[in-house]
Amino acid sequence: MPIRLYDTARREKVPFAPADPGRVTMYVCGPTVYGRAHIGNARPAVVFDVLQRLLRHEYGADHVVYARNVTDIDDKIMAAAAAEGVDPKVITERYEAHYLADMGALGVQPPDVAPHAIDHIPQMVAMIGDLIAKGAAYAAEGHVLFDVIAPGDYGRLSRRSLDDMIAGARVEVAPYKKNPADFVLWKPSTPEQPGWDSPWGRGRPGWHIECSAMIAAHLGETIDIHGGGLDLIFPHHENELAQSSCAHGAPLAQVWMHNGFLSMGGGEKMSKSLGNVATVGDLLAQGWSGEVLRLALLSAHYRQPLEWTEDLLRQSKATLDRWYRIYRHQLKFGFPIAVDAYLHVANTADAIRDDLNTPGLIAEINGLLDWFGLSVNDDDEAQHARKAVAAGLSAAQAIGLLSSHPTIWFQGESDSSDGVHAAITARTAARAARNFAEADRIRDELAAQGIVLEDGPSGTTWRRA
Ligand code: AMP
Ligand code: ZN
Repeated sequence: MPIRLYDTARREKVPFAPADPGRVTMYVCGPTVYGRAHIGNARPAVVFDVLQRLLRHEYGADHVVYARNVTDIDDKIMAAAAAEGVDPKVITERYEAHYLADMGALGVQPPDVAPHAIDHIPQMVAMIGDLIAKGAAYAAEGHVLFDVIAPGDYGRLSRRSLDDMIAGARVEVAPYKKNPADFVLWKPSTPEQPGWDSPWGRGRPGWHIECSAMIAAHLGETIDIHGGGLDLIFPHHENELAQSSCAHGAPLAQVWMHNGFLSMGGGEKMSKSLGNVATVGDLLAQGWSGEVLRLALLSAHYRQPLEWTEDLLRQSKATLDRWYRIYRHQLKFGFPIAVDAYLHVANTADAIRDDLNTPGLIAEINGLLDWFGLSVNDDDEAQHARKAVAAGLSAAQAIGLLSSHPTIWFQGESDSSDGVHAAITARTAARAARNFAEADRIRDELAAQGIVLEDGPSGTTWRRA
């Protein structure tokens, strides 16, 4: 099965066919660096990291160019700098370093290119000049505005009607705008604000133009995949699309992908302004490992909402403990795990190629790992079991899990996990034999040691009470 991806523009899953399989291009809108990333901000970073890993397996590691930008000019950055009385660079360098460390802890590989807005002012100025020359933008009172009438199909990506947008625009529209929906490409800076000289006076770019300019500079006029969170569809991506297609006369991206929101505290989108935020830094400091956070993020399909709870974290930890126990056994007995073993098992390959169905893949991994420790009747079955386990472990590694050594994973934990595992196996056997008294006795014995068992669809897991 070829890779299929859900394209926001077409509102359907489409077979993925890069324009040049020798150079697959993907751009994901990255962080605005003025504060610590919360776990919702980490969702696109992790999701598109899974995708870039899959693309590298399919097309070759060197045949993918993945760019994720850093927004280092922004009014929120200026406000944070003013509040601390420091240069904006102090803020952006500090929070970019935090971001890279936090994403690294989540197993997110650095992108091939990490363009910074501040380093691309000349490209932005050139693109704005080009848009003016092509009649798609106009200068007014130190600003340059994009004329939303110009593309002819503005609103196509977000499926909004231009008439509705104009009618619904707020009343206090800037007087220099021809049309209330026109958006800013360039705006004037006061002497104390960061600014650059331009044909329209000293100023700074609006937000949207940076991505259009950096995509053209690093990846090309039309890229294969453009991604980000759901909130970016409008206005950010709609505006990127309008700018780039007017400048180049070509579509900006073949496939537009957007992740759903992570929420916390009853379905509310996690966001700084609402205050329902768990930062990656806080979660790591609480002792959750980066892989537990990563598995928790991948437990729901990327387009679905995901509610962030303590229970989700506990379940993810229990799942990884089980996977690492099996991994430890494989290493101990020298059973090889080929990196692409999962691609030779139809179900795991199909799950990940079906629009990154990570919950489906995780279920497949659990199913494959159920072969571990199963009593087998002959050599054929033993070999089948070994292959299944190897495929399950390779699938986990393909999505960036099991990246640690089991010895390191279990470091600091008392070696009771082996004993607990044996007790769980004995209890499962007792229950299968309908010896419920024995099963209950084992459960009570573990409870007395502070170990709680939880029976779930993928077997029994345990946690410390
Ligand atoms: P920002 O730094 O606010 O521009 O956000 C960085 C990325 O995180 C963007 O792709 C956003 O769409 C995404 N994002 C922000 N909040 C959430 C959330 N609660 N759930 C999922 N993605 C989010
Ligand atoms: Zn962008």
